[in-house]
Amino acid sequence: MKSYRGTPVSRGIVIGKVYKYSRKRTLIKTYQIDVEEVAEELKRFAEAREIAHQTLLHIKEKASRDLGESQAQIFKAYIHMLNDPVFSEKIQELISEERLNVEGAIQKALAELSEKFRRLDNDYFQERLRDIEDVLSYLLGALQGNTNNLSNLPEGSIIVAEDLTPSEIALIDKELLKGFVLKQGGMTSHTSIVARSLGIPAIINVDKRIMDEVKNGEVIILDGIRGEIYVSPEGEILERYRKKITILKKKEEELLGLSQEESITRDGQRIRLAANINSLAELDSVLRVNGDGIGLLRTEFLFLKKEHLFDEERQFKIYKKVLEKMDGRPVVIRLLDIGGDKDLPYFESPKEINPFLGWRGIRISLERQDIFKSQLRALLRASHYGDISILIPFISSIEELREVKGIIIEVKNELEQEDIPYNRQIKIGLMIEIPSTAVMAHAFAREVDFFSIGTNDLIQYTIAVDRNNSRIASLYTPFHPAVLKLIHQVVKAGQAEKIGVSICGEAAANKYLLPVFVAMGITELSMSSGYILEAKKLIRKLSREELGQVLEKVMEMNQAVEIEEYLKRYMEENLGGKNGR
Ligand code: PEP
Ligand code: MG
Repeated sequence: MKSYRGTPVSRGIVIGKVYKYSRKRTLIKTYQIDVEEVAEELKRFAEAREIAHQTLLHIKEKASRDLGESQAQIFKAYIHMLNDPVFSEKIQELISEERLNVEGAIQKALAELSEKFRRLDNDYFQERLRDIEDVLSYLLGALQGNTNNLSNLPEGSIIVAEDLTPSEIALIDKELLKGFVLKQGGMTSHTSIVARSLGIPAIINVDKRIMDEVKNGEVIILDGIRGEIYVSPEGEILERYRKKITILKKKEEELLGLSQEESITRDGQRIRLAANINSLAELDSVLRVNGDGIGLLRTEFLFLKKEHLFDEERQFKIYKKVLEKMDGRPVVIRLLDIGGDKDLPYFESPKEINPFLGWRGIRISLERQDIFKSQLRALLRASHYGDISILIPFISSIEELREVKGIIIEVKNELEQEDIPYNRQIKIGLMIEIPSTAVMAHAFAREVDFFSIGTNDLIQYTIAVDRNNSRIASLYTPFHPAVLKLIHQVVKAGQAEKIGVSICGEAAANKYLLPVFVAMGITELSMSSGYILEAKKLIRKLSREELGQVLEKVMEMNQAVEIEEYLKRYMEENLGGKNGR
């Protein structure tokens, strides 16, 4: 039995079937076949055509459900083209007469067709040619056993891929997905974040050979706790893992017992535990664990799957729905933060050498005020219906923040003039995720109502380590003393101006850092809902007063490993060790 190792980024254990996904088409081999191989090759063609047919049928149905009949028409046309007898006969002829393998026959048929269409020099035919190429890519994909579409997952799939972008993840029907195995990524890349938000186990940094060595449909165990993958498991190991899954489920149920308990330290400090969400589908899980509202709603994720950005009305309805569902609990909604690794497929953004240092987040909003204002109007209108706050991402200077605040005032005035109700006291918060903003937190604290520390970006920008780069993933650490010093400074700046400070980056769910954050005086953490009850369990064991010494010690240390080891030891000795959470 083959096994692989990687870095676990979303916990849980699942047994599922491999679904290989490849964006890039692998090299297509074309060659001559012998006469006795013709029948086999014709059979391969028929099978591939059937798989491509099923794939397209599934996409067509999904498109008509999600995007409407008109959008589904194109797939209907694709199915028609795929089954066109003229086309099939041409390929069969090339296989039988010219003795080409299927891939070779498809390529040749396409080349001949392109030549014909090119001579016609007509836009309509050029368009049709692109469609035909697309149809053929489904055929070639089926032949290679590599599926290059994500909207057609068989139930119980574990996606095995080099890497996935947030917009690709958006295409996946999460009900059908059991796990991710990826070559690329980091602990805080958005794929990992989404996996954690959805409670789907994931392992990254896995040997690239897995892509060639596992077959579609093969059963694998994905151990998202230890970072292990077992291919076609049998006997003892399968039995062991089945037992582990049962034990995990039991533990989860036990934890649910904590949902009605208070999140409070032994010495009476209440720590609010809110949820980070990327989709409305996650709201039920937040309610299940009785989270203290939403601490971060990443609005860009709402638009990844769609064909365009939503207009004001659609957005207003979505935000209002979140408020209704949260039924009085506070909801923090972050303004659009596209760019970096979150490109909207339909939004034209330039190819950049350093997208994380480029046209991202608020920089886009300030330039595209049409988009920005419609989001602000929708949010302000929704503020009439519940406890909503606006969170501004990616601010690096006071000037930028003031410009944003100016636009918010403009939009508020518009609403006044139109007699549209909104909450005039709506709170405006600032993401602290760029070192310049953290350093200047004392000045920013006078400008906004609350801070939310985005450690995911704060770490990458402070220590110059790309959060998505698996090669340098070991350098990306929330224990870095410079990062902790910045966080401490931000908390103190917030306290001096009496504004709330929370942490919404992934470090908020780091059990070893939790005592440090509590000692610093953080009173709110926001994390994937799957981590809330464990955090609560730990908080209830802490005493803020006793942690003063821990914080002091940590702040004197100069190395990330030293801090990490110290905090792990502290937990083992004082908080029930590995069972602390
Ligand atoms: C962060 O940077 O910590 C954060 C919460 O935002 P995102 O992960 O969406 O960049
Ligand atoms: Mg960020």
